[in-house]
Amino acid sequence: MNESVLIDKYGRQLNYLRLSVTDRCNFRCYYCMPEEGIDFARRKDLMTFDEMLHLSAVFCKLGISKIRITGGEPFVRNGIMPFLRKLSVTEGLKEITVTSNGTLSERYQAELLQIGIRKINISLDSLSRERFAQITRRDNFDGVYAGIFKLLDSGFDVKLNCVVAENKNIQDVVPFIELTKNYPLSVRFLEEMPFNGSDGSQVQSDWDYKRIYQYISGHYSDINRLISDANSTSVNYKIPGYAGSFGIIPSFSRTFCGTCNRIRLSATGELRTCLYGPAVVNLRDVLRKGASVTNLEQEIIQAVSRRERDGYAAELASQGDIHTSMSVLGG
Ligand code: SAM
Ligand code: SF4
Repeated sequence: MNESVLIDKYGRQLNYLRLSVTDRCNFRCYYCMPEEGIDFARRKDLMTFDEMLHLSAVFCKLGISKIRITGGEPFVRNGIMPFLRKLSVTEGLKEITVTSNGTLSERYQAELLQIGIRKINISLDSLSRERFAQITRRDNFDGVYAGIFKLLDSGFDVKLNCVVAENKNIQDVVPFIELTKNYPLSVRFLEEMPFNGSDGSQVQSDWDYKRIYQYISGHYSDINRLISDANSTSVNYKIPGYAGSFGIIPSFSRTFCGTCNRIRLSATGELRTCLYGPAVVNLRDVLRKGASVTNLEQEIIQAVSRRERDGYAAELASQGDIHTSMSVLGG
């Protein structure tokens, strides 16, 4: 593991930044955003790419070695490719990965490889065009699906993220695993989290990781558990003989907090040390007040020192206010 000075009071070393570059998106997935009436950030409140580059450099100086670019949909923000190109030469940064809804154009695929970005997570919740449209509220299945194979053909390491929910896509779980028979894809099934941007609707996922696994094991007699990275949020499996693998992410059950190495920066500069917790500081504001690199480092170190033990403690600290859209939190 990269040595990081970002160590919380429970001894966890943070070396992975998830950077949301926009809160906007061309989809309206039901679990992430309401269909309409969304309060997107005002342009002046979004960090500029220069601000993001500056802050990323500070994070990397403190020991962050991996940055995941997320959103909103990262590719809807103008200027994303020149930004990624500049970000890729940040001192200390070893890896950039991207999470996208898969509507990225082919032109971007070639450019990403050129920059050295070859790991991409694509959100795909169904293999049926109708269910896809129902889930994302957009009729884009064919383009997204074809794009996944283009990514594989070009040499990307592709993971598919699939949020599992009753009455939405249970019938897709086995077909997703079957997709890994001939393709070296990793499909990850996620529990739904309560981040759909709507204050009133409490999400209580019926499909937790145990139920997802039980459902899958009802269809396969032989499932191999894979050894995962120490900081992996997914428990990973493989059907013997299949080219790819699958994983289950207990994102709502939060069984992985003990080894969590992540920190999140929203497109408007809010720093979170846990997805379930409140923003600890707004680094955009600190930066715009003229903070030096040392001041910024101190703010980040302090935020990390106040990190809660796990997502349940963080949720308590946010006093029930955890209904922000995932497009703001950055997934
Ligand atoms: N637009 C990109 C995408 O969809 O991949 C990147 C941003 S999206 C917020 C990042 C990830 O968060 C996606 O894989 C999405 O499925 C997941 N996500 C969003 N809302 C969620 C929720 N309420 N529960 C579980 N996962 C969620
Ligand atoms: Fe957009 Fe991703 Fe949220 Fe879906 S999950 S609405 S694609 S940001």
